[in-house]
Amino acid sequence: MSTFNGACHCKEISYTVKLEQPSHILCHCDACKEINGGEFTLNQVVPEGDFQLIKGTLGKYTYAGDSGNPVHCYFCPNCTTHIYHHQTVKGPFYIVRTATLEGAKEWPVAAEVYTKNLAKWQPIVVDDKSKAFELAP
Ligand SMILES: [Zn+2]
Ligand SMILES: [Zn+2]
Repeated sequence: MSTFNGACHCKEISYTVKLEQPSHILCHCDACKEINGGEFTLNQVVPEGDFQLIKGTLGKYTYAGDSGNPVHCYFCPNCTTHIYHHQTVKGPFYIVRTATLEGAKEWPVAAEVYTKNLAKWQPIVVDDKSKAFELAP
């Protein structure tokens, strides 16, 4: 288990997160595309207690997920970078945006979710294709 430093684009928000194996889960869901303006987001799922906000106050945006339960998105109110999401249906776990973590460019892709929503030109990139899920497992 290692601790990684994260920050938003403008650096008003900083945080740390503990990760067992630094890697990304790519999410291709429509909410990720619309909210982030890209084909996918880079994420990792961490127990609530392994995330620590160091600096700043996060804004919150809530929408109804596929289950109908609320998904709370926590972001920097200044630069709008999303730091983590909390899908209440998944319990006390946060979905941290790993692209905001130091060193994240070096990390491998561990899994891909919502591949049914892939853009036509977007290939599945995870090496182990059994880790590419049509929906979130
Ligand atoms: Zn910011
Ligand atoms: Zn998503």
